[in-house]
Order: sequence, then C-alpha cells, then structure tokens
Amino acid sequence: MKILSKENSKQFFSFLAVLILGALFSVDYLAAADKEEAVWKKSIQLVLDKTKPLKYDRGARLPLYLWPAMNPGKLTDSSAENLVSLLNDRGIGLVCSWNYENMQESLTECLPIARAQKKLGLRVNINATSLMNSFCDGSEETAHIDSAGNPFFDDAFGKKKMGCPFRLEHRIAPIRGRFDRFTEEYLKENLSVDFVFTDWEIDGPLEWNRAYDSAKRCRICQEHLPQFDDFLAYQHELRRIRSRLQRQAYAAPILERFPGALVGNYAVYPHNGWRYWYDYFERFVEGQPSLVDQNAHYRHWSNDFEGTGFTFAMPVVYPWSWTWNWYDFEPGDYRWFYNGLLVAGNAGFSTPRDVPIIAFVHWHTVDVGLQVDERPTSKNAEKPQQMSEWAYQELLWHMLLRGTDAFFLWCTEKEQSKEVELLHPVWAAAQEYGEFLESGIPVTFDVPKNVGAVVSGLRLGNQVLVRRTDFTQNQSPLTLTVSGKMIKIPASGGRCMVLPLSK
Ligand SMILES: [Zn+2]
Repeated sequence: MKILSKENSKQFFSFLAVLILGALFSVDYLAAADKEEAVWKKSIQLVLDKTKPLKYDRGARLPLYLWPAMNPGKLTDSSAENLVSLLNDRGIGLVCSWNYENMQESLTECLPIARAQKKLGLRVNINATSLMNSFCDGSEETAHIDSAGNPFFDDAFGKKKMGCPFRLEHRIAPIRGRFDRFTEEYLKENLSVDFVFTDWEIDGPLEWNRAYDSAKRCRICQEHLPQFDDFLAYQHELRRIRSRLQRQAYAAPILERFPGALVGNYAVYPHNGWRYWYDYFERFVEGQPSLVDQNAHYRHWSNDFEGTGFTFAMPVVYPWSWTWNWYDFEPGDYRWFYNGLLVAGNAGFSTPRDVPIIAFVHWHTVDVGLQVDERPTSKNAEKPQQMSEWAYQELLWHMLLRGTDAFFLWCTEKEQSKEVELLHPVWAAAQEYGEFLESGIPVTFDVPKNVGAVVSGLRLGNQVLVRRTDFTQNQSPLTLTVSGKMIKIPASGGRCMVLPLSK
C-alpha cells in the first residue's frame, strides 16, 4: 500500500470526513423525511434522542423526572398523548409548570398533558414553584423592625429582601389562593394532580448565614424568641414557621382536594438531625453547632419535614465544588461518592417506608467556589476534579439500594445531553430488579471512612440484591450481616448480584 505523505494524508482524512459527514446528514435527512411526528421542543427532543424505551417493565413505580423533560409548550390533545406515551416508554414522567401570573396560558399548556396522563393511567406531574414566590415580597409589612421602629431587611442571602419570620403570616392566604385556583381547575375537568414539587429556596424564614444577627437587631424577633442566646432554639422556631408556611399555603390546598398526591419541596426530607451538604446560598458561620468530619462541618438541622405535611422526601445529592476540599480521600472520586452516600443514606435511613424518596441528582461539578466558609479562599484549597462517570453511576446504584425511589435530574441547558446520557441507563437497568426496588428493605447504611469497598443492598424475603463497588484494587470477599445472618460478598466488577440469605 502506498504510504501517504503528511500533506496527502491530511487531504485524505479531510475527504474521509466529508464522506462521513455526508453520510450522516443523508441518514438524518431520510429519518426526518420519514417522521410524521411533531418536532418537539429542543430539550424534549434531546431527551427522546438520548434515551431508549425501557427493556424491563417499570410497573407502578415512580417515573424518572428530568429537568429537560418539562414544559413541552402548547400541544393538542393528540400530540400531548403521543409525547406522554413516548416518554413513558422510556420510564420518564413529563412535568408541566403552573404559573400564577398567567394562569390561563399556563392551563392551556398543562391541561392537555394532564388529560393525556389521565387517559394513559399515568401520574399528573406538576412544578408549582412559581406559586410559592414569594412570602418575602419586599413589602414593608414583611420587614424586620429595629429598636427605633425602622423597618429593615436581611441581606444575608444576596439580593433577596428577606423579611421578619414573624411578619409573614398575611402572605399565607394569597399564596394558598393560587393553589386553590389551580387545583379547582383540575377538579372541574375531573383530572387529578398526583405529583407536585416546588423548588422553593431563598424565601421565608432561614436561620443560616448572618440571619441570626439581623434577628438580634429586630424588636419583633426578640419578642418572639425568649431564649435568644440559644441558636438551636432560634433554629427550631424558624423551621417550625417555615414548615407551617409550606403546609398551610401549599401542601394543604393540594392534599385537601387530592389526598393521594405526592407533594414536596427541594431539600426537604426526613434526616438524623444533621445536614451533610450546603446549598449554593449557604455558608458555614463559625460558632454555629456542627459535626466535624475531616474539614467538613455538617450543620445541625431541625426536624422540619413533619410540619410541612409533605408526602414525599426530596434530598439533594450534588457534587458541590467546595465538597472536594472537605476530605483527603484518594482517589478523589471517593470524596464525591462518600458525601453523596452520606446525604442519600441519611434520607434513606430516616424516611418512613410509606414516604417515597425522590432525590435531586446531578453529575457535573456545581461551581460554588472552593470554600464553604466566609474566609478568603485558602492557598491550600485545591481545584476539584470532576467526578468520573463511573463513580456517579455507581453512586446512583447505591442510592437505589439505600432507599431512594426515584431521581429528579436538575441541570443547565448545556449539561442536558451528558446528564441524561449518564442517568437514564442506570435508571433503565435498575428496573430489572423492580421487585427489590418496590418492596426491598435496605440492609446497610454504612459509609466507610477508609477508601475501599462499598456495599449496599435490598433484602426481599430470603434474597438480597447487592452491589459492591471497589475504589481500590483489593478484591477479597467481604462479609455483611443481614438479619443476623452472614453473607459473603465477592468483588463483582460493577454488577448487581442476587444472593441467597440462608443457613
Ligand atoms: Zn424580625
């Protein structure tokens, strides 16, 4: 064979590239010409393109929720049915958002989807975030009041004019009214509302950052908080109010009309009294009660789930960039994995079995800086390495084997493609173990403090569905005690195993 000169080879490869591109385009073109279906909104089309119909039946279990599989625009009843069905084949639930500022327009988009979901026997899924915003509306009636009688706002959370926790009562009725109006429209059409979530974050009473300092300057806060030097008492009171606002304005109007609905909010879930992560708007403040683990300060969290009346739990398992510098584990993948498993396991362990856990997940490092505290960034703070795809997919498996029922992917537009590509195959493959996912009981919540093997499992009768993930080369078998019986767990190279529980 003639050896190509450097220049010739360049031309040859350019020619080859043109041929390949040409072939791809013509295939695409033919496929498009064959299609009679509507062309969906970009993010919806991406989801359809990046996922395949499920091989294993999902049964009655919850669907997978994806940020890009939301709000497909105005559809006719038949195209809504087509889309809901295409997504359901892939195990994905289509979500539609309520917007109270333009209720009619919002209903024009949401009702055809709800009708399709009802017709196909599927859950009607709603994003009701806009209805919650905002309790702290910036009006003087919501402000803190200083000793001279002047109103002021707390700026501890950025631009948001955070008000006085004890002056938000009058905001419940108008916000509840929005939920009343939307749910009435569904009742009128004989439709149900089955899954409602909100991403309600920087609003209402929040005790973190320097909010405590503002409260100490406020006459109204001081009147309501007799034990003012006790941060935990302050936290307890604020969370009690925050939960009540969520219950009275949001959960109650939905559950009164649709008692079986799943209702929840981002980051609200049962837990063991500690929170192992910080949201992007939260900072560690020296002196606040915390549990130290290497460089991490886990915060004390009050029992805020019960007071909300929520019917599902919504933990948040993200690789926040500052987490990287909390731990010294090598390989670094284990830093993300360790923290993710602490967060997910906390919800799995603490949530009653009849309350589903739908966890927010995300793969790309969420850039929130290198340090979670208020000091200038230390010279020793390392730039984080992106979690490997392998570690993320293993983490998803372990979450499922520690009580997570379903995932809700959050991501930005440019992350959509990769995020869906990583999450969906795990979700789809897990359906093979549907009976375990549905009725199995987690057998361990242990999160090893040394890098090595991690085991999770679900017990169903006398069988245990087990997954073992190794972060080192050591492949020797492990033993795990399940209901007083020892089982041996061999290294399994990234597969689940169903092991008998006998003798
Ligand atoms: Zn106040």
